[in-house]
Amino acid sequence: METIAIVGGGAGGLELATRLGDSLGKSGRARIVLVDRYPTHFWKPLLHTVAAGKLDPQVHQVEYAAQAADHGFQFICGEVLRVDRDSRTLDIGSWRGDDGAELLPPRSLQYDKLVLSCGAVTNFFNIPGAEQHSLTLDNVQDAEFFRKRFLASCMQASSRRAAVNIVIVGGGATGIELAGELCHTVRTLARYNVHTLDPARDVRISIIERGDRLLPQLNKRLSGRAARYLRRLGIEVCTDTTVARVEADAVVDSAGVRHPSDITVWAAGVEAPAICSTLGLAQNRIRQIVVTPELRAEADPSVFAIGDCASYVCPDNGAVPPRAQAAHQQAVYLADVLVRRAGVKVPAFRYRDYGSVVSLGPFAAMGVLIGGANKREMLVGGLAARLLYRLMYQKHVMALHGFMRMAAQSVAHWIRGKITPPVKLH
Ligand SMILES: Cc1cc2nc3c(=O)[nH]c(=O)nc-3n(C[C@H](O)[C@H](O)[C@H](O)COP(=O)(O)OP(=O)(O)OC[C@H]3O[C@@H](n4cnc5c(N)ncnc54)[C@H](O)[C@@H]3O)c2cc1C
Repeated sequence: METIAIVGGGAGGLELATRLGDSLGKSGRARIVLVDRYPTHFWKPLLHTVAAGKLDPQVHQVEYAAQAADHGFQFICGEVLRVDRDSRTLDIGSWRGDDGAELLPPRSLQYDKLVLSCGAVTNFFNIPGAEQHSLTLDNVQDAEFFRKRFLASCMQASSRRAAVNIVIVGGGATGIELAGELCHTVRTLARYNVHTLDPARDVRISIIERGDRLLPQLNKRLSGRAARYLRRLGIEVCTDTTVARVEADAVVDSAGVRHPSDITVWAAGVEAPAICSTLGLAQNRIRQIVVTPELRAEADPSVFAIGDCASYVCPDNGAVPPRAQAAHQQAVYLADVLVRRAGVKVPAFRYRDYGSVVSLGPFAAMGVLIGGANKREMLVGGLAARLLYRLMYQKHVMALHGFMRMAAQSVAHWIRGKITPPVKLH
């Protein structure tokens, strides 16, 4: 029986493993094996809400082992350290518990087909001090680390009667969503007397963006709306500002201006993880693996790549962006390709951009919907945008668990939201 190994159980990889397990795994037509460095899955677009304390990650995590048992695939916990394409073998590192003790030894896995869905990591663009002095939002651990640092900074500043400066580098969706959520968090913490800072005066949040507007990839009017909303919240928005270096207590821009910073968050871009460079396959300048219209690596038809670690330029739509929406569409496409018998011709992958929605706190969301043959763009805001934003996550949950469980979980989360504090405190 052929083995299809999937490296990375994120937005794309877990959905693919679930679909292939349900179709090929359960019927015994193939052995589907998912490998991830963590034992649980968390949908990355929600990480900024974990960082702001709005969402408890444990409540929204999916246990890979349970998902595997329910959907006919195997799960191996461990980091893939090396891929040997000649012998079609993955080297998987040991898995250690929180105390550093080895729980599982290093292992290897032979595959017939390999799907890389290992996502992306923060790109520091070699800016001096950026990696050393900035926090990132690459995974749940990063987001929890930020949350605790933010809480501690507010409490310490409160007892010193000082201000807290947060600088977010990058005015894309991640940066502005985090800024919006933090404004709400700091007010809630003040209401709970966790600190005695004046949220408007003592907590200074700045966004530094190199481009001439926020959300540079999206509609210009949406950028304007988002900037106006954030400024109304008291957030400083610095566009046309390039970071020259990051220091322990400041971000210095190319004009020499120092932006004091107690916590610097780097959200200025992504690149594929280092593992992608070890396969000897064609890559683009941010290390993504270049794939064909069938999402195969150009030099090796047994290797596929989807999501943030893949580079595919659609002839009609341009480069597929690193978004959950794209990872989902590629997972659906590849599941369809891999269940087909060998030799059956498959259509090329085609990315459809339905638009984007950003959430700027519990009471504000805005976005742009794209539809029709001429790709007309329509701005949405208010309740409609908030519902659409929630729908993105519900769609992901539905792809993993089906409608009934998604509906039951939504009700459970709604009730939980009513009976627990709106911000996770400790
Ligand atoms: C804060 C934030 C907000 C975002 N907001 C949005 C949004 O609003 N809308 C949107 O469309 N997109 C958003 N994105 C982008 C979106 O999250 C990604 O595009 C999407 O998750 C990519 O899916 P993926 O499957 O390629 O990778 P991921 O979801 O990143 O999953 C990669 C998986 O691979 C695993 N892995 C990596 N390396 C290894 C290895 N060597 N061995 C084993 N396992 C490995 C990781 O543990 C992880 O589980 C956001 C991202 C962030 C960080």
